[in-house]
Amino acid sequence: LKDLYDGFRDPKTIKAYKKLIDIELENYDKTINIMEVCGGHTHTIMKYGLPQILNKKINFVHGPGCPVCVMPKERVDSAYELSLQKDVILVTLGDMIKVPGSRGSLQDARAKGADVRFVYSPMDCLKIATENKDKKVVFFAIGFETTTPMTCALLEQVIKNDIKNILFHINHITVPEVMRALVDKKDNKIDAFLGPAHVSVISGSKIYEEFPLRYNKPVVVSGFEPVDVIESIYMLVCQFVQNRVELEVEYKRVVSFEGNIKAQELVDKYLIKTSFEFRGVGTILESGYELREEYKKYNAKLVYDEILPKNRAKENKACRCPDILSGVAKPLDCKLFGTVCTPTNPIGSCMVSSEGACSAYYKYGNLL
Ligand code: SF4
Repeated sequence: LKDLYDGFRDPKTIKAYKKLIDIELENYDKTINIMEVCGGHTHTIMKYGLPQILNKKINFVHGPGCPVCVMPKERVDSAYELSLQKDVILVTLGDMIKVPGSRGSLQDARAKGADVRFVYSPMDCLKIATENKDKKVVFFAIGFETTTPMTCALLEQVIKNDIKNILFHINHITVPEVMRALVDKKDNKIDAFLGPAHVSVISGSKIYEEFPLRYNKPVVVSGFEPVDVIESIYMLVCQFVQNRVELEVEYKRVVSFEGNIKAQELVDKYLIKTSFEFRGVGTILESGYELREEYKKYNAKLVYDEILPKNRAKENKACRCPDILSGVAKPLDCKLFGTVCTPTNPIGSCMVSSEGACSAYYKYGNLL
């Protein structure tokens, strides 16, 4: 595995790209503000010290592509309430368990006796449901295009095997709509995008076509290793210097224009587009998913409607997560960063999530 990654983390290749970027930018006198949409890219950028080595004409603007970070508090509160039901086992993915809601995190609910479990694959719900026939397993489904098909594959199994004790709380969201919402903002500082490659593996690079065409913003779909990222930045820089505005794919080894059609069909079969409130960005039309009407008996939001919170949750005013997620602030702009707010005492989701920008700055920010 080490050998597999070596080429994509090779310091000599990174330095060579740095030189090429410097040469291209020698006579270019503007700053290029590049939004890396995905938190995975933010972590690569910080971990490998790219802001330190790269030409100062490159400015990274951190984006909203971390599903845990953009989850509005109301939905965290719903997960919390669901988990406290005596007949419920609440199952979710990774860092969601640590995100603070109005009354606490799922971790806090667990301390109160709630049965909360996190899994690496939604399919693990099948085993949990088989072993706990007297309980309802509620899968609190999160993630962008990459994880949505896995939730649908689970639903397909549930239907096929007539499993009666698995329900779904769908919180899936999509990347192009939130990118569009950001570039639609008058005061946005985005000149170009690094597009997340794993999303494009499913949806195809076609989902980014509108940004060069309609918004005059170049996009390069990039892999997540440091050589991928710096090569993508080089490709963007070349576009600016040569006055081109295009959609390009750096991560050609996996991404196609059309993406994974079977996965897209699976999602269309079970889910329908709906609006979603992104923390920091606001409510965006057709940026989320919900179960289709014909599968409503699997919808935990309807089955447990009476106990789910209806009120809007208050945000901690000192936390700058909303500004960070909409690209107008960076973690170091937050007064709580590293003092009141740390990974062991996170105030906002950007510090909780392993893909969050504040978490990246906390882990690797001493390189700045
Ligand atoms: Fe919010 Fe903490 Fe990040 Fe500040 S450092 S923006 S409080 S998560």
